[in-house]
Amino acid sequence: MLGEPFTKARNVIQTLEDNGYEAYFVGGSVRDYLLDVPIGDIDIATNAKPDEMLSLFERTVPVGIEHGTVLILDDEHEFEVTTYRVEGDYDDFRHPDSVEFVRDITLDLSRRDFTINAMAMSLDGDIIDPHGGQEHLLQKEIHTVGQPKDRFTEDALRMLRAVRFASQLNFEIAHDVNEAIKDYGSLINHVAVERIQVELFKMFKGVGLKQGLYSLKATQLYKSLPLFKEEHSLLTRLNETVKNPIPFENVMIATFCLLSKDYDLNDWVKAYKLSNKLKRESMHVLNCYDEYKRNGINEALVYHLKQDYIVDFVEIVFIVDQVKIETSELITLFEQLPIKSRSDLAVTGHDIMSMFPNERKGPWIGEYLSKIEQLVLQSKLKNNRTEIESQVKRWKEQESN
Ligand code: ATP
Ligand code: MG
Repeated sequence: MLGEPFTKARNVIQTLEDNGYEAYFVGGSVRDYLLDVPIGDIDIATNAKPDEMLSLFERTVPVGIEHGTVLILDDEHEFEVTTYRVEGDYDDFRHPDSVEFVRDITLDLSRRDFTINAMAMSLDGDIIDPHGGQEHLLQKEIHTVGQPKDRFTEDALRMLRAVRFASQLNFEIAHDVNEAIKDYGSLINHVAVERIQVELFKMFKGVGLKQGLYSLKATQLYKSLPLFKEEHSLLTRLNETVKNPIPFENVMIATFCLLSKDYDLNDWVKAYKLSNKLKRESMHVLNCYDEYKRNGINEALVYHLKQDYIVDFVEIVFIVDQVKIETSELITLFEQLPIKSRSDLAVTGHDIMSMFPNERKGPWIGEYLSKIEQLVLQSKLKNNRTEIESQVKRWKEQESN
């Protein structure tokens, strides 16, 4: 019988069927179910039109109604339900001019990218597989639905998706697909870098990352990706260094920065239009890695890491240096810190200022706080208001002498 995630989506399909429509599980969830690997989101395809879905279900969000997609909320879950559709001509290597709703699931399956993604499954577990997806799952090969050239000139992102699936599933890219990517790889320049980013991140998280990196080279697709196309040796270094999937995006970006000789974080942010949040999180990992390389594991390092970044830090050291630091060692050290952040200090900037009412406000307050913070962290000064204040007075006296 179908496993847990599918049972949650049953009601949606059942309701559609009870009202005379067809509905199937489609895409990645069917592929992952047949492979017996954990299933991500569950997509459903139906011959009901979007407005028909909206009237059938109470809680819906019309997320992409012009493409036929409605989000249906069921208890705490949400399912993307899309009307069977085919796509019109593509005139710019990325967007179809139009979509057309159709009444036949096999037409919908034939617009999908790869045979292993072009299967549908009924509530009873019957599989509709018009393009040989199950056979290709057994062979562990990525084949396009139809001619690779046609499919890649329609939507050039599919070439990177092929490499992403090679990495995610540890599959090989079929020979004709590989050759077509060699021929048409440069078309990916027409694709929005935000879409490239998504696929690249999924690729580097893949359990078969070795295979993914191999495919990126064999297809030569890296020669068309921002920054990789400028610094060819980066892929070689990634291949030599990275032995495991990189689970976090900030660690991924930090790895790229550390292994690149020509490009720093700002270049990656700009080339891939990374969010400010990801930039901040990558910078933090890079700074802590740098601190670790200079002084090893100490109080200052775990203080800067805070608890939130311990796992990311362990990951970057493992990926780049192949050194396994125990998370528990860092957590213990963190727990023993006399202060966990500057706000734990027994004095504030305001306290220090009011000790010297005749002095003007200025950077000296922040500098004193940093010195106090460091001494307290090294247990050279007690985090006690009286002791800190006498230390500050001594500093002031020394300065005026
Ligand atoms: P994941 O488990 O990573 O979500 P997925 O197969 O669900 O993998 P999605 O990107 O979520 O991948 O896409 C869902 C489905 O939509 C795919 O399985 C495929 O059938 C179809 N699809 C997605 N992008 C394209 C595309 N660019 N061209 C053709 N079909 C696509
Ligand atoms: Mg998906």
